[in-house]
Amino acid sequence: MKNLRPLGSGVIAIVTTLFVFLGTANLQAGEFSRVVIDAGHGDQDVGGNHGLVYEKHLALDTALRLEYYLNKKGIRTTMTRRSDQFISLAKRASIGNRYRNSIFVSVHYNWTWKSSVSGLETFYHSSRSKPLAQYIQSGMHSKVRASDRGAKYGSYYVLRHTKNPAVLVECGFVSNSRERSNMKKGSWRQRIAEGIGKGIIKYQKERKSGRLN
Ligand SMILES: [Zn+2]
Repeated sequence: MKNLRPLGSGVIAIVTTLFVFLGTANLQAGEFSRVVIDAGHGDQDVGGNHGLVYEKHLALDTALRLEYYLNKKGIRTTMTRRSDQFISLAKRASIGNRYRNSIFVSVHYNWTWKSSVSGLETFYHSSRSKPLAQYIQSGMHSKVRASDRGAKYGSYYVLRHTKNPAVLVECGFVSNSRERSNMKKGSWRQRIAEGIGKGIIKYQKERKSGRLN
């Protein structure tokens, strides 16, 4: 029995090495290995709201649908929150920075005093993040009919403090009655999540091809 010990640990070492190798072997140059999904707001920070429709709930549901979609496509994810809890912006950014070779996608719903304003928009801060924002915008618009407010520069905390490519997606206005009735439907949030996912996959393809870094 004593003799089996060194053999046992040797086998474990080989298996561990193999897993480490397999874990990185199929990752091509330029490819990212993980998507950090950040559902905006939570707990007392409800975000935009109208009546009982709260941004924090819509954002979490959409983020979880995105997680499921990406996992099914073989892309690893990390959620900054999975329940109705408060997480500081600093903590969200630090979770994003935990994974060196990752991208950061923050999911939000919009609100403004002007109830006629509607549409989808995706913000980036660094120019490196701009293509990701553009692919997500076109991904969403391939799945739902909404006005296109574009991929644009935005100085949000989580974007400024994330070292990896990072975007903040606004999936429609809670303050607009037509968009509000859309976002209340699970099927619509599903299409939005799939659209974001589609954009991420397209962006991954471009990274793999070496056209982006
Ligand atoms: Zn928000």
